[in-house]
Amino acid sequence: MSNVYLVVAEIRDGKLRQVSLEALSAAGRCAAPGDIVAAAVVGRGEGLLAATDDLAAYGAERIYVVDHPDLAHYRAEAYGAALLQVVKEANPGMIILGHTSIGRDLAPWLASALDAGQIADVTAIDQEGDALLFTRPIYAGKAFEKKRFASGGGIQVVTIRPNNLPLAEPDPGRLKEMIEVGYGAPALRTLVREVVKKTAGKTDLAEAKFIVSGGRGVKSAEGFKPLEELAEALGGAVGASRGACDAGYCDYGLQIGQTGKMVTPEIYIACGISGAIQHLAGMSGSRVIIAINTDPEAPIFKVADYGIVGDLFEVVPLLTQEFRRALGK
Ligand SMILES: Cc1cc2nc3c(=O)[nH]c(=O)nc-3n(C[C@H](O)[C@H](O)[C@H](O)COP(=O)(O)OP(=O)(O)OC[C@H]3O[C@@H](n4cnc5c(N)ncnc54)[C@H](O)[C@@H]3O)c2cc1C
Repeated sequence: MSNVYLVVAEIRDGKLRQVSLEALSAAGRCAAPGDIVAAAVVGRGEGLLAATDDLAAYGAERIYVVDHPDLAHYRAEAYGAALLQVVKEANPGMIILGHTSIGRDLAPWLASALDAGQIADVTAIDQEGDALLFTRPIYAGKAFEKKRFASGGGIQVVTIRPNNLPLAEPDPGRLKEMIEVGYGAPALRTLVREVVKKTAGKTDLAEAKFIVSGGRGVKSAEGFKPLEELAEALGGAVGASRGACDAGYCDYGLQIGQTGKMVTPEIYIACGISGAIQHLAGMSGSRVIIAINTDPEAPIFKVADYGIVGDLFEVVPLLTQEFRRALGK
């Protein structure tokens, strides 16, 4: 296997995503002395430059940049074509992406184009002898499997789940080369007409450190207001159960669970959520779970680290008040 670890950086709203730095940190830990930790930045415009600064600050030794109008919006065929050019230049042994919507789409595209193996949704990486062992959740988080790549020397493609692998300390001054890579402008079969952002400017659920989530117990769209205030006090994001989405209290973009988003924040506050197995599948990996529910028998209390039996409309504003005071807001 080549000794180059290539992280595919992801930019969102002009900023490098945190998971890309987590991927870079993971690459740094996997790399043996003499190995090279590189990053690829693909896109269009100024955000690319800011991303390269951040990648350099966190220890990237080589950064490959592909800047082209076709790459202004994500399309697997365009980003894939750009990355194949980078792979030609960089000759990586391993390619690491975030397990985000883009990473989940792009990683199998790349693995297929490169005839490479892929391990997805990795939450831990350990060394086992000479090989790396990758841990990933299965059966909606009820079990974990450990996998390694079969020996054979081909490229390995890995996606890592946001908020799971530790972020290393900044390690600037390692950047040796910034390499501009040509795109080649292949004929594309898709066109991005419009990007509709429903959560513009808000913290991304997948990367949020604090999530305040509402269920059918919030009773209305208006009922989400106190949850939004608590999330804002914490600098976190608002999520929801499918019960709340089905009832029309919030957008499906907020749904957490088996058929929604997988989240692993440091603190998850479930408000008026019963704790159905399909909901737990998306949030049980949270570091600390706090449940607020009027029903002391609600199944959410079985997974909660802290449980508050009470009315969310009384408890949530009190929490907001206390957090604001504690955080000096
Ligand atoms: C194939 C499939 C996939 C699914 N995928 C998902 C998924 O991805 N995510 C998901 O969430 N669900 C999913 N579901 C649905 C899931 O089974 C549950 O129906 C759903 O999670 C229930 O949402 P809820 O907890 O908000 O509502 P409920 O189960 O109705 O619970 C509401 C809770 O609020 C409490 N409550 C009421 N008033 C208050 C108050 N004032 N203060 C405090 N507590 C209060 C009640 O005691 C109750 O426990 C899926 C189901 C299926 C079949």
